Amino acid sequence: MSIPAPAIASFQPPRRTLMGPGPSDVPQRILDAMARPTIGHLDPAFTTMMEETKTLLRYAFQTENKLTFPVSGPGSVGMESCFVNLVEPGDKVIVCVNGVFGGRMVENVKRTGGVPVIVEDAWGAPVDPAKVEAAFAANPDAKIFAFVHAETSTGALSDAAALAAIARRHGALTIMDCVTSLGGVPVLIDEWGIDAAYSGSQKCLSCTPGISPVTFGERAIAKVKARKTPVQSWFMDLNLVLGYWSGEGKRTYHHTAPINPLYGLHEALVMLAEEGLENAWARHRSMHEKLRDGLEAMGIQFVVDEAARLPQLNSVYIPDGVDDAAARTRLINEFNLEIGAGLGVLAGKIWRIGLMGYSAKQENVDYCLKAVKAVMG
Ligand SMILES: *Cc1c(COP(=O)(O)O)cnc(C)c1O
Repeated sequence: MSIPAPAIASFQPPRRTLMGPGPSDVPQRILDAMARPTIGHLDPAFTTMMEETKTLLRYAFQTENKLTFPVSGPGSVGMESCFVNLVEPGDKVIVCVNGVFGGRMVENVKRTGGVPVIVEDAWGAPVDPAKVEAAFAANPDAKIFAFVHAETSTGALSDAAALAAIARRHGALTIMDCVTSLGGVPVLIDEWGIDAAYSGSQKCLSCTPGISPVTFGERAIAKVKARKTPVQSWFMDLNLVLGYWSGEGKRTYHHTAPINPLYGLHEALVMLAEEGLENAWARHRSMHEKLRDGLEAMGIQFVVDEAARLPQLNSVYIPDGVDDAAARTRLINEFNLEIGAGLGVLAGKIWRIGLMGYSAKQENVDYCLKAVKAVMG
């Protein structure tokens, strides 16, 4: 084989402003943290940092759950970790679908041998608690309930407290997707009684992609311990992963953790603690209001009703006469600005403008409004 002659001697990515559905802009402070020397995944200095990361994650999730740690893998691996551990073949699972990510939960249930009972709501609407109540009434044997808190495909926020309370009343465990909500709007794992939840590093935490914070409560752990069949995934089996993440004083090798990305996650969580969760939520809200006012002044309309609108994911109808792909290409080429396209039934109809984490700032709002106005021309 001949020696390849790479045209890219060393990759220099363009500087973009990331205002899509994730990844969000990563602050230089986090990139700097990730550029520090790689050490071993069992190095005592590293394991001390791991412990602190778990404490910081408990704060982000607002939980006392001991079993709170970052899974090595993107949000999708966090999702699978919840389903493969908690769902046993034959378990009935009530799954809410009001966008792309609820649909993926259904796929997860099927692949674990569970029996999905689907509760559907329109794309752009939140999950309707009355439908969930009806699904439990019709399926009193349902063991698990799963929903997406912040549907990134549509920009709708569901009432997690109300939904988890229904599941608890019917004796089911709740799995919540909070990939897009964590750090952007309140996520109160303990107060709401959520049994298992997973998130992502690259949305409102503004870290690089590839890590998924997860948390499991006592009832979830009891279900995993009582399994009659082994977890079908070796990599995601909690019983094995924990030898590494919580083997206090005697950690054992399970897989090589993504060392440098975990420096980044730690830095992101330190930044969140410095700002304070309430302040982070308030910042997302106020930036959303500014963006909304600017977009509405241009005649652009929102997809989701005000009451269920996510501040960090603004889905808006593409104005009449504007070519979707051409406009987004111009945003990238002329403004170095990334916004998201519509997915599934909303493809070609909407844009998804993210204000996640470090991207939720005044200069981004102003820049985005200027750029969108220019391409609407
Ligand atoms: C982004 C996202 C995921 C998947 O996360 P990846 O890191 O892309 O695997 C899951 N659920 C929701 C709601 C998301 O927004």
